[in-house]
Amino acid sequence: MKQLAILGSTGSIGTTVLKIVKQFSDRFHVGVLAADTNIDLLAAQIETFRPDVAVVGNAERASALKRKISCSSQTDIMYGARGYAQAAEMPGVDMVVVAVVGAAGLVPTLQAIEAGKDVALANKETLVMAGEMVMKHAARRQVNILPIDSEHSAVFQCLAGHPKQELDKILLTASGGPFLHTPGQLMAGITPDDALSHPTWQMGRKITIDSATLMNKGLEVIEAKHLFDVELNRIDVVVHPQSIVHSMVSYCDGTLIAQLGIPDMKAAVAYALSFPERLALKQPLPDFSQLGSLTFEAPDLQKFPCLSLAMDACRAGGTMPAVMNAANEIAVDRFLKKRISFLHIPRIIGDVMEAHGASPHPTLSAILDADRWAREKALDVACQICH
Ligand code: MG
Repeated sequence: MKQLAILGSTGSIGTTVLKIVKQFSDRFHVGVLAADTNIDLLAAQIETFRPDVAVVGNAERASALKRKISCSSQTDIMYGARGYAQAAEMPGVDMVVVAVVGAAGLVPTLQAIEAGKDVALANKETLVMAGEMVMKHAARRQVNILPIDSEHSAVFQCLAGHPKQELDKILLTASGGPFLHTPGQLMAGITPDDALSHPTWQMGRKITIDSATLMNKGLEVIEAKHLFDVELNRIDVVVHPQSIVHSMVSYCDGTLIAQLGIPDMKAAVAYALSFPERLALKQPLPDFSQLGSLTFEAPDLQKFPCLSLAMDACRAGGTMPAVMNAANEIAVDRFLKKRISFLHIPRIIGDVMEAHGASPHPTLSAILDADRWAREKALDVACQICH
């Protein structure tokens, strides 16, 4: 029985993890459920999965949660950063699933690694902000970092059994998002509702906007660089609107190995939970007779400057990826709140990056300082744009 701590249990990935736990209840047990704000759903999850511990964002929500669950519940309720730390380090837990949104994933991931837990990582911002440090700690503590992101799960599967020196390139596929073929002159008028309707993947709000700007792919390039320890020039992005090929790897003899499946996160999540075994998920295969054709094209970096900004941040290294990530989180939030336009997102990120002098090989506190600085700076820039 594998005992799981699920950080971000009420989000899109968290609920998928719990579906798999329910389907394979003889293999998994939930020790910890942690969410931030969605108390109603968390209370329902506690009733179903009966974890030892549940964590929420603050004391007020912890009281609200206690009132919602039955008085006979054996679940201890904790809150805040300390609650998250305890969740990540809980004795008896074998694997910590990090499925929280944004920069909030970094510290609990490091705590889980330090406690010797395997990490199933859905939070790409963790590796974007501190990939070098996270992978170094994981190697030292001999824990596995198992990717939940579908592209990285695909690459992980394509790399299995091949010596690293034979690897040529990693080809990350991108759906291209809802505006792949939107004429450039219409991009300024894009609303949050337009951007939230993704053509192939069902995901949370932040990542759906990131997919629309292609920032999601930029974050994934940085994630892949650290996860698979390859240079940036060995990672290519290929736009593939059908999202059937989840990613590919090429080898020194010109052979390409691809991983395919329907666009559904369940298989990637299940593989991270059960690696090296595969679970009998009974997922449908892509219906090739209906699909007709799979198409591929190069990304348009002029129309989607966020992808270039992420590559620039990756090349600059040090604290720059954390700064780029923080500026993006603020810009996406402002866009969702209709304070800025779609085209302002890359402008804010670019301005914040330009104002930052990256320091190499940063410590955790230097990364968190850079993150804080970038958030304030991004808010300033967003304010100037509004007025
Ligand atoms: Mg992905």
